[in-house]
Amino acid sequence: MKHTVSPIGYLRSCFEEKFAIPRQPQLAPAARGMLELLPPFDQPHALEGLEQVSHVWLLFLFHQTLEEAPRLRVRPPRLGGNRYIGVFATRATHRPNGIGQSVVKLDGIEPGRLRVSGIDLLDGTPVLDIKPYVPYADALGEARNALAPEPPSPIEVQWAADCLDQARQHAHRLGEPLVELIEQCLAQDPRPAYQQPDTQRRYGTCFWGVEVRWYYPQAGVIRVIEIARA
Ligand code: SAM
Repeated sequence: MKHTVSPIGYLRSCFEEKFAIPRQPQLAPAARGMLELLPPFDQPHALEGLEQVSHVWLLFLFHQTLEEAPRLRVRPPRLGGNRYIGVFATRATHRPNGIGQSVVKLDGIEPGRLRVSGIDLLDGTPVLDIKPYVPYADALGEARNALAPEPPSPIEVQWAADCLDQARQHAHRLGEPLVELIEQCLAQDPRPAYQQPDTQRRYGTCFWGVEVRWYYPQAGVIRVIEIARA
């Protein structure tokens, strides 16, 4: 049986590129977005009661990694990016039906849209459904996952002269916590785990239309060396 699903809305997100998006929600609380709902879900009736909920599950499509042929095994970055494991043991983006799920903080409800934070989703992500987070059912104290037992340990993020001031100016212009966003995302060490730290190599990505460039002066340390409007 085939079934068609269609988006109830699209996420406007701080993340315009996949690189340096945290690998799960809640790792960067400063990562904000706006879920813009499509008719008829933009009507107030659809959102009634949501003001009593602090967090929601977003079910969405990994629209940038959809594939025709199903993968049975994937190489998750968490395991170094070079070890295969069954797709159902992972939260990889390449998966049957390309469906993702993230718990995000619901910061506000505006006509036809929801303000959310702690996201791990690309700008333009099609959202298929919203469900309230239910702590007694969703937060399981005894749950274990030996493949991902702990959140990744954050690494140190340093700022080269002027970069911090420039980031603060962009934060002011955007009305977004850009400095915190950069620090929280880079502290996750976005570099693929199989790449050996190399002090010559430069990395970069874009947050809210601001280009951020950095390098690794030593293992376990990131230094931001350029901030520019994209
Ligand atoms: N929390 C979700 C889950 O478990 O289904 C997503 C986990 S997945 C490992 C997170 C990564 O998906 C992010 O780091 C980003 O690189 C990627 N991503 C986010 N939005 C995407 C999209 N719309 N299409 C493809 N990849 C996306």
